[in-house]
Amino acid sequence: MNIAYKYRIYPNKDQIVLIEKTFGCCRKVWNLMLGDKISYYEKTGKQLLTTPAKYKRDYPFLKEADSLALANVQLNLERACDNFFRDRKIGFPRYKSKKHPKKSYTTNMVNGNIVLDFENKTIKLPKLGHIKAVYHRFPDNEWKVKSVTVSRNAINQYYVSVLFEYEASIDPVKADQNSIVLGLDYKSDGLYTDSEGYCAGMPHYYLKAQKKSARQQRKLSKKVLHSNNWYKQQYKVNKTAIKVSRQRRDFLHKQSKKIANSYDFVSVEDIDMKALSQSLKLGKATMDNGYGMFINMLSYKLEAKGGRLIRVDRFFPSTQLCSNCGKIKKIPLSQRVYSCGCGIFIDRDYNSAINITHEGKRLLLS
Ligand SMILES: [Zn+2]
Repeated sequence: MNIAYKYRIYPNKDQIVLIEKTFGCCRKVWNLMLGDKISYYEKTGKQLLTTPAKYKRDYPFLKEADSLALANVQLNLERACDNFFRDRKIGFPRYKSKKHPKKSYTTNMVNGNIVLDFENKTIKLPKLGHIKAVYHRFPDNEWKVKSVTVSRNAINQYYVSVLFEYEASIDPVKADQNSIVLGLDYKSDGLYTDSEGYCAGMPHYYLKAQKKSARQQRKLSKKVLHSNNWYKQQYKVNKTAIKVSRQRRDFLHKQSKKIANSYDFVSVEDIDMKALSQSLKLGKATMDNGYGMFINMLSYKLEAKGGRLIRVDRFFPSTQLCSNCGKIKKIPLSQRVYSCGCGIFIDRDYNSAINITHEGKRLLLS
């Protein structure tokens, strides 16, 4: 199993220069290799295999960068091109732009070249040496470092995401008739309603920060592009956006942890978030509550304790079924209450969540 911990780092001036150079070299190598691959494909219809080393003579500055980082660029590019050769509709991957505000590169653990020093609060990375790091959480002793991704966000803060590998010996929880399955119904304006009737919404502080973000965006659009004030405002916009996404991630971690602590089996509708936001024209609210991210977090937290996330088919009629008698009845989106001839009178999302539970349990035992 793999797990990643992200730590803030404080590189000194020289280290910043080198990190930035490495970002640039990775972009350069990506674009050079991609360009050659595309022209080779246009001539022969085949994939060109090429390595970063081939470009070091013409671009000697590439030698300054961590060669493992460049090797990872090659791997990523090959993976993206393999997708293209499998399905031409996907198209070639894109060239990387210098203007992209987020930068990163990944290096690997080889012969102890990466050292996390918790006592001296540093991390040693290839070419960079020891960088000041803030360790707010610690890996278990038997975890092994696999790779480190160095990144810079839009407001010039640097981070390392350390990927650890560990041997997992988890006994799967046995499912039987008495197993409890929690059902979750996706809510576009909140997060979910569960089969116990609990509605989880995004917290107030998050909604407030989101509003602030929208306000700052509007202000930015009124400034003269690339003027001093525009840059100042752009910085504010980036800062709030980072805060909003951090708050969302923390909140989703807490919510998924809470559920995984209490349940072994959770059933969800397997919804296609992109299609949903497009077809229902729910726009931003749908994309921004991070439901997809939440489901991923929940899935690995359940698996880590031997439980399971059960995905119910997206065409399962969870909103139309009566959770009491099983009759099917179409109800319009505006109708918040589900009522049925059998006497049930229930919140529509709660009704869906119960249906998702029943279907989840059926799948679990089948
Ligand atoms: Zn009924």
